[in-house]
Amino acid sequence: MSDAGLLNQLIESLRRLPGLGPKSAQRMAFHLLERDRDAGRELARVMAAAMERIGRCERCRTLTEHARCALCSSARRDPSLLCIVEQPSDIVAIEQATDYAGLYFVLGGRLSPLDGIGPEELGLDRLAARFHEPELEEAILAISPTVEGLATAHYIGELARDSRLRLSRIAHGVPLGGELEFVDGGTLAHAFAGRQGL
Ligand code: ZN
Repeated sequence: MSDAGLLNQLIESLRRLPGLGPKSAQRMAFHLLERDRDAGRELARVMAAAMERIGRCERCRTLTEHARCALCSSARRDPSLLCIVEQPSDIVAIEQATDYAGLYFVLGGRLSPLDGIGPEELGLDRLAARFHEPELEEAILAISPTVEGLATAHYIGELARDSRLRLSRIAHGVPLGGELEFVDGGTLAHAFAGRQGL
């Protein structure tokens, strides 16, 4: 393979990152090759290791390199509260903006039959099993108020129907689903405090 081929492959690979257009990808490739090959090697090493070793927590489905994530393993979290989010990045946003101290469950998306995303893909059988764990008292839905989000929330509500669980939903007006990170902390904290029963 020619040098130009490999260089083009590098630029094309960088372009697949969200937010990187062709110009930025090109600039980044040249920067690494001309000015900082150590950083490039380190990036390649860490990225390869992360792609191989980071999987999903067996309990909450967030990203972790262990069987069970740090939050699920922590004795300091309140097991009576369970917050249901769409993406692992939502956990980071909630942890940073609120004083929520319970546990989480990551759906990994929203119900979308046309895209082949059903209850199984979202781990809803595992979620239903958690609803019957004796220490759980309240489940908080932090799911975006889109059509698919509402359908997902409705489905989860049905799962909780035959448990004695209190089900609530964080206040509307907050964009969610991998976008919690873009909401300012005050708004998110407010939405969390103003959660309403379902
Ligand atoms: Zn976990």
